[in-house]
Amino acid sequence: MTPNRQTTCPGCGSPFDAITGPTHAYMTSSPGCFAAFNSLLAAEYTDPALLPTHRLTVDTYAVQHPGDPNDRRAVQSVGLHLARLNLQLAQDLPPKETNDVMLGLSEHKSSLVALAPPAQFTLTVADIAPHASTTQHSAKVRQWAQATWQDYATHHAYISEWIAQAGL
Ligand SMILES: [Zn+2]
Repeated sequence: MTPNRQTTCPGCGSPFDAITGPTHAYMTSSPGCFAAFNSLLAAEYTDPALLPTHRLTVDTYAVQHPGDPNDRRAVQSVGLHLARLNLQLAQDLPPKETNDVMLGLSEHKSSLVALAPPAQFTLTVADIAPHASTTQHSAKVRQWAQATWQDYATHHAYISEWIAQAGL
């Protein structure tokens, strides 16, 4: 039996089946990786109990697929999603309060600088997607988010200072 041909995702570095399909405009990934991400989103859109998990999934996936550092959309996306991870994980802010704070913060996104991603990620969507829609879905996403926030430890001080300067 021939195994499926695999390609390495340019964002998170994980191998996925070499399928053809859509990818995001500036969160650079392989089509197989983007399909795994969408399987998590599909589960979260159909189960109201998973909605509180949804933002963490998007934030974590975004910072693992930083894209082109010369693309302002990509640079701001990484910065804003890292700020969201800071609020939710380091400051333990609930989703509603996080959204309120982020509305104010996004007005300052033009001051964000490009942040180099870590050389590798502890957990990726490849580890989490198999748990989509299971009783482990929320716990696995939270583990993934926590690990990814830690993978970005070299930029924690920058993100905290940026949030503080933006008026928090
Ligand atoms: Zn990926």
